[in-house]
Amino acid sequence: MILLSGGTGTPKLIQGLVQIIPQEEITVIVNTADDLWVSGNPVSPDLDTVLYTLAGIIDDSKWWGIKDDTFRTHEHLKSIGHDEGMLLGDLDRGTHILRGELIRNGMSLTAAISEMRARFGISATVLPMSNSSVSTIVETPDETLGFQKFWVELKGRPEVLDIRFDGIDEAKPTPEVINALESGETIVIGPSNPITSIGPILALEGIKEVLKKAHVIAISPIVGNEPVSGPAGKFMRALGLEVSSRGVLDCYKDFLDLFIHDIRDGYEIEDKTCRVIKADTMMTTCERAKAFAELVYEVSHN
Ligand code: GDP
Repeated sequence: MILLSGGTGTPKLIQGLVQIIPQEEITVIVNTADDLWVSGNPVSPDLDTVLYTLAGIIDDSKWWGIKDDTFRTHEHLKSIGHDEGMLLGDLDRGTHILRGELIRNGMSLTAAISEMRARFGISATVLPMSNSSVSTIVETPDETLGFQKFWVELKGRPEVLDIRFDGIDEAKPTPEVINALESGETIVIGPSNPITSIGPILALEGIKEVLKKAHVIAISPIVGNEPVSGPAGKFMRALGLEVSSRGVLDCYKDFLDLFIHDIRDGYEIEDKTCRVIKADTMMTTCERAKAFAELVYEVSHN
């Protein structure tokens, strides 16, 4: 199974999948448009959450960082006048140092993640969407903000006028990503933010054309009229999309075969281009993630 992932909803599904199928059967293509450099090292929020989930060390109370991590280095830096803007755990920082070293020694991001995956004892395949740098930019009435500044430092409060991905026109999907998407396996777009997690992957040259030829399933991250978490609703609204599962389906309808939305949505979706089913998509515990993963696995093989 091939998954397209951001950093919260799809990792929950991955946590469920690893309980029912061998990791070797899983390939995850991950958004890198919110990657950034912090204190000299490259931070890949979505890739790291996927790696930590597959390694079984994710802090799944918040879906970022390593469980039971401490923040002493971050606090120490702050006390001597260096505020990093985002909270980095001590062990998590170790991951960034390793990635930084691998990249400084000449590896591409794809090669570095493959190496790190092996060192974490992960047997699933984890692929950054691109080796080139892409940055999510949020336009607000007062200023132009990077995604982390908007979401982490300012807690998503400013009004959003527009969202763009700097570097996306020059960035290419990697050959590994294209090969995975052309492998003939079912592609699952997990319940991730359709604008800033899945959007950058779909915006890369050639991706939508490949998806049109594949069997593609998508899961809605919107339940009722709000996302389960994160800024997806605010971003969809800013781009003139309805904040609902219908609005999510509109983002994907050019290439979708099956759409799954939550049983809590108080309406049925009829669509001429793809099959639509309802399910309990709320993965509030490891057990519920397993139950939903079983359903996704079953429908991906039918
Ligand atoms: P992020 O935007 O980088 O935090 O990461 P993602 O894009 O992967 O995840 C955010 C999306 O996941 C949000 O739009 C949430 O609504 C969605 N989400 C989180 N947990 C769940 C869940 O249990 N079920 C469903 N259906 N969606 C979820």
